[in-house]
Amino acid sequence: MGDVWVVVDHENGETSKVTSQMLTAARGLAKEAGGDPVAVFCGQGWETAKERVSKFGAAKAIVAESEDFSNYQTAPQVEVVAKLIEERQPWGVLFASVPSGKEVATRVAARLGLGVLADATNITIEGDKPKVEHSAFGGATIVQKTLKGGPFLICVKPNAFVSEEAAAEVQEDKVETSISEDAKRVVVKERVEKEAGGRPAVDQAAIIVSGGRGLQDPKNFELIEGLADQLGAAVGASRAAVDAGWYPHAHQVGQTGKTVSPQLYIAVGISGAIQHRAGMQTSKTIIAINKDAEAPIFQLVDFGIVGDLFDVVPKLTEEIGKRKGGG
Ligand SMILES: Cc1cc2nc3c(=O)[nH]c(=O)nc-3n(C[C@H](O)[C@H](O)[C@H](O)COP(=O)(O)OP(=O)(O)OC[C@H]3O[C@@H](n4cnc5c(N)ncnc54)[C@H](O)[C@@H]3O)c2cc1C
Repeated sequence: MGDVWVVVDHENGETSKVTSQMLTAARGLAKEAGGDPVAVFCGQGWETAKERVSKFGAAKAIVAESEDFSNYQTAPQVEVVAKLIEERQPWGVLFASVPSGKEVATRVAARLGLGVLADATNITIEGDKPKVEHSAFGGATIVQKTLKGGPFLICVKPNAFVSEEAAAEVQEDKVETSISEDAKRVVVKERVEKEAGGRPAVDQAAIIVSGGRGLQDPKNFELIEGLADQLGAAVGASRAAVDAGWYPHAHQVGQTGKTVSPQLYIAVGISGAIQHRAGMQTSKTIIAINKDAEAPIFQLVDFGIVGDLFDVVPKLTEEIGKRKGGG
């Protein structure tokens, strides 16, 4: 069958968590596919990325270093990755299911006449083909598909896999990158640093604590932030809370916000409308705190607390703090 590639998602060599998760998945798949897990790196900062890529078990790395990858939009990466796939025919290629990864994957697929599957939450091998679970219809349904043809292009949802270290001596293969003039037509003029917050981003976090209209006042998001900080979690919000101007839209979870799949999702004062569920129902463990025992969110949860959030959340935050401190 062959190698399983991971297109490294990174910022100047700082790899994202989903890259480590994809490498973990690729190790298992490559073993079955009779090939190696291979990292494909496009951009600058390879020496930084190399350390992480080795830590998560890439046996080989195809390295295309050029500042053109950041000077122009995704077209240079599409060109290089498509050419490499065409020449080397891996068994499968994993991309991060984030906006940039999905854009590269779909454009590579269009160039090579291949299919592409987004938002994969699990991948196994049946015969010589990947059997993929992925979320569809805004996350409302999990669909199982067996892919035909190949090489198989799959976008992996952040936090669908748990990353496990497995140090390897990565064998580097530096490739020449000559980017065509055609791929340089959309120029990046300026980059604006995102305001750095201490908490993880909602779509990258392993744990999310989300607040809804039940908080009653924007000030009460402090309760959500306090609990999130004890857990090292991101802060999410329902659309009702975002529309009321209580929390920024970048934190909204749901059909018109982020689709997330963390290991743990805690919904506080959120009723569980279908549009909210569409964005979080593939979370591994779901806990809800709501004073209404009939709230639809309780149909979905692993653990439900029927109670007033203003009682429950401070107690929960305090108890977690005590246990962390060994008290
Ligand atoms: C096209 C479309 C797209 C949408 N996209 C999204 C989306 O992306 N994300 C999203 O979230 N919504 C989305 N919505 C809106 C969605 O339908 C709901 O209106 C919204 O999710 C409700 O937010 P909520 O649960 O915070 O508020 P509510 O439905 O008002 O629920 C508040 C909950 O808090 C509980 N509560 C109140 N006080 C307390 C207390 N003291 N202690 C404990 N519990 C308490 C209540 O029992 C209630 O269950 C969309 C709607 C449409 C039509």
